[in-house]
Amino acid sequence: MTGQHLMNTYGRLPVAFTHGKGAWLYDEAGKQYLDAVSGVAVCGLGHAHPAVTQAICEQAARVMHTSNLYRIPAQETLGERLCQISGMDRVFFSNSGAEANEAAIKLARLHGKHKGIELPTVIVMENAFHGRTIATLTATGNRKVQAGFEPLVQGFARARFNDIQAVESILRNNKNIVAVMVEPVQGEGGLASLDDQYLPLLRALCDKHDLLMILDEIQTGNGRTGTYFAYQQSGIKPDVVTTAKGLGNGFPIGACLAQGKAAALFQPGSHGSTYGGNPLGCFVAEAVVKTLVEEKLPENAAKMGQYLRNGFAEALANCDQVVDIRGKGLMLGIELKTECSAIVAQALEAQILINVTAGNVIRLLPPLTINKSEADQIIERVSALIFAYSASSQ
Ligand SMILES: *Cc1c(COP(=O)(O)O)cnc(C)c1O
Repeated sequence: MTGQHLMNTYGRLPVAFTHGKGAWLYDEAGKQYLDAVSGVAVCGLGHAHPAVTQAICEQAARVMHTSNLYRIPAQETLGERLCQISGMDRVFFSNSGAEANEAAIKLARLHGKHKGIELPTVIVMENAFHGRTIATLTATGNRKVQAGFEPLVQGFARARFNDIQAVESILRNNKNIVAVMVEPVQGEGGLASLDDQYLPLLRALCDKHDLLMILDEIQTGNGRTGTYFAYQQSGIKPDVVTTAKGLGNGFPIGACLAQGKAAALFQPGSHGSTYGGNPLGCFVAEAVVKTLVEEKLPENAAKMGQYLRNGFAEALANCDQVVDIRGKGLMLGIELKTECSAIVAQALEAQILINVTAGNVIRLLPPLTINKSEADQIIERVSALIFAYSASSQ
């Protein structure tokens, strides 16, 4: 077996997993790996969680898909639950994160059109990641994602991340701004977080200029950073929030939530999706969200995240390769002095799955279910890898 008939979009590691349980995965030879990636922040409940398996089986045996031409009770229930959790009013369901962001960008443009703005423009951030569709790769602040796919779409302006004055300065010079879109923690961009005062300041600016405040919580949402949504740690509410990844625990589903005037922008015909919000996806996501909340997994993410950061700070105190240990909840970054993507394959050898982003930042996204013993093993194995890497690069 080879992958020669697959388009060459990924540099894949030479391993395939046959099954998993919680934070553990097993390869074709039966070797056990500790999973500190969770399918890129997707499997918050870990692998093969019985509540998810049961929901899939139950709903698949009833009805999987009917289309949005008809009412979908599971979609209504999930919509209500997510609105209750988030303080939003309405939801549009998609199949992926990029599509949830496409919906948010369309909301921003409609908001602008209603104000008589012909070239509605969304402020996005340096090092942002918003997806791979043409509009979301334009919104992404990474030339590697965009290169070769020009012409990019119009209607985006770029500000420095975590710099409210950069947003103010664009607003002074550009009368077409209709929205600001930002990730609370930049997952692909190197695990940078917004300062505590940034979101309240942005909220005030958006109110003052009648802009939609859009948060991309595709990676930070669903408990990952210690609260269900990351913005819930800052005492404000956005107008629009998008999420995906952890929402389906591996079943593909995304959501664009909105409140107030932003929630009333779409009308029949404005937007749609054949699969989006189908009975199977919504029933599964409902089980995922219910389990996340009932098992207090956002709280566990906050606790274990702190435990991991403290543990790494201690274990790596004498390692001069380490520049910074950062992140929120179970979204952890360990920045090294030099490019370190080779460490991912070394980690595989050591039977732990990790990821490197932005070239020199080790990214850890373990399931939200991890316990102290698993966290200790992550600290032990990853620290050993960093020390070995550090010794070999001297
Ligand atoms: C993963 C991600 C996306 C894109 O989601 P897809 O499901 O891959 O389309 C967008 N924004 C952020 C912040 C992400 O982490």
